Amino acid sequence: MQDINTCPICGSTQLYTLLRTRDYHYTQEEFPLKRCQECSLTMTTPRPEDNDLARYYNSPEYLSHNARPTTLFALAYRLARHFTIRNKEKLLRKYQQQGTLLDFGCGTGDFLRHAQQCGWQTYGVEPSEHARAIAASQLKNVYATIDLVPLKSCSAITLWHVLEHVPDLQRTLTELANRLTSGGTIFVAVPNIESADSLYYGPTWAGLDVPRHLWHFNRKSMERLLQQHALKLVRTIPMKLDAYYVSLLSEKYRHNNRLNIPGYVRAMRRALMSNRTARTTGEYSSLIYVATK
Ligand SMILES: [Zn+2]
Repeated sequence: MQDINTCPICGSTQLYTLLRTRDYHYTQEEFPLKRCQECSLTMTTPRPEDNDLARYYNSPEYLSHNARPTTLFALAYRLARHFTIRNKEKLLRKYQQQGTLLDFGCGTGDFLRHAQQCGWQTYGVEPSEHARAIAASQLKNVYATIDLVPLKSCSAITLWHVLEHVPDLQRTLTELANRLTSGGTIFVAVPNIESADSLYYGPTWAGLDVPRHLWHFNRKSMERLLQQHALKLVRTIPMKLDAYYVSLLSEKYRHNNRLNIPGYVRAMRRALMSNRTARTTGEYSSLIYVATK
């Protein structure tokens, strides 16, 4: 295990324990979260060593990498994802003409395949060998690391629920910013720890997903991180469907990994309330940060 004693965003050592949660999805191991007093970044610490993190992704039903849905849950996730893939590409086009797109953490490549059909040249980076093999069987330019993506080559870069997984935040942002053309746009989607569903579910909020999620952002910490890399935040966009999926999982975690009909109803109500509250606060369950170079 390794301890994070210094905030990677602002360098402060003033960290306090926010809560204790566990890996409800897989190992049931306990992990504390600490928050930086200065910039309010929340981190999973102590956390597994970097070279030990892969085994926390070995769960057979780890959804992002599972190509064939076998449960009702997985199927619902699939359907929501296919719906959002189209919306994501439409969002890109609001900011960039079709050019070159890098999807960092591209998983099995579903989003890239759709983007390619819409006219984008694509790069994919995916560390998981299994997911990468699936992506590479249908797409060119899919790599294990970002090194092979040329500098200043991408007019759009996307990270769909990826940044919270990367061990080295600053290095990753530097590498990404280097790949972006001047005037290019980066889209960073992450769970929002200040959302109403997060505040309600607390340690059983599924958006925490420790120890796979190493960082837990709010708007303040994300904006500061982007600024440090000369990326100007132009907009935050809600991901309203995430409130439903995350609330369902959170209900399950809260009740010994079982979800019955009343739990299902509670989750739906909670998600509705979260999205309604966010209409005034802006604190949706997940947010897409849109920033330009
Ligand atoms: Zn900080």
